[in-house]
Amino acid sequence: MNNGNKGEVVFDIRNLCTWFPAKKGNVVKAVDDVSLKVYRGETLGIVGESGCGKSTLGKSVMHLEKPAKGQVLYNYDGEMKDVTKLNKKELFEFRKKVQMVFQDPYSALNPMKRVYTSFHEPLKIHGYKDQAEREQMIAEALEMVNIQPDYMLRYPHEFSGGQRQRLCIARALEIKPDVLICDEPVSALDVSIQAQVLNLMKSIQKKLNLTYLFIAHDLSVVQYMSDRIVVMYLGKVVEVADCRELYDSPKHPYTRALLTAIPVPDIHRKQKREILEGEVPSPINRPAGCAFHTRCRHCMEECRMKEPELHEVKDGHYVACHLYRDEAGKI
Ligand code: SF4
Repeated sequence: MNNGNKGEVVFDIRNLCTWFPAKKGNVVKAVDDVSLKVYRGETLGIVGESGCGKSTLGKSVMHLEKPAKGQVLYNYDGEMKDVTKLNKKELFEFRKKVQMVFQDPYSALNPMKRVYTSFHEPLKIHGYKDQAEREQMIAEALEMVNIQPDYMLRYPHEFSGGQRQRLCIARALEIKPDVLICDEPVSALDVSIQAQVLNLMKSIQKKLNLTYLFIAHDLSVVQYMSDRIVVMYLGKVVEVADCRELYDSPKHPYTRALLTAIPVPDIHRKQKREILEGEVPSPINRPAGCAFHTRCRHCMEECRMKEPELHEVKDGHYVACHLYRDEAGKI
């Protein structure tokens, strides 16, 4: 996949498949043949409806889910290593570099333990034996998210939702990772708090040159955060482009429908909505040909027979749709 000159590759995901066994010998193809590159310092947004495989993709990259096939190459000090083949020691080192922020800050912190304990344990596990050093690292991480270090003696229920998510971000940052995989990090928060947390994440990213994989279903949030965006449908990538290009000129009918569903706070601007009809088909029983054909109003005969491949329609803009096979057909 050519993405122009975007700098150093952090992750090179190749033909990744994460499948789960289901009843009666069926297989749920949660992530199916996904290939992507993630570049140092960028925020790569991953969007799609519930069940499209975006969270499973994040967990597979983190190696919390074991892929059935494919490779996740990680740039380990200049050497690309396949995360799916790391031994125990290498995986342990990898986890220092790549951390995850989960959706629900309420369940991500142990309610029975003081913040102090929840922050010390990962550091101990990662070999920081000196207590003074650990305390210094925790204080730095808490200051980074604008929480006073002496609050570490409190319990999680003594914090608001926004503070708790900031704590989760601080805990992910305390061992100084290079990459954060953020799975719906603000969707459990009020809108006003969401803005606070997103701005904080942006400023931390700039300060530490972090790379974010930002998974969310809220397209406004993803637009605000991302440099590039990946759109997923039923486990497959259907479109990839720079953020501005995708929002100004979406190609795939699914992306267009998603984008026209974003409310516009302007009563004078009329937006023609493309309503998505029907439910997402079951990933156990994917429709033949283009998986989106059961809901696509541009569906052609060919779409029912042949699965479209992801190909470049413009510099760094990829789409998997027969309408753009030769960039001649336009909606
Ligand atoms: Fe619609 Fe066909 Fe394109 Fe699929 S390939 S999105 S069915 S036009």
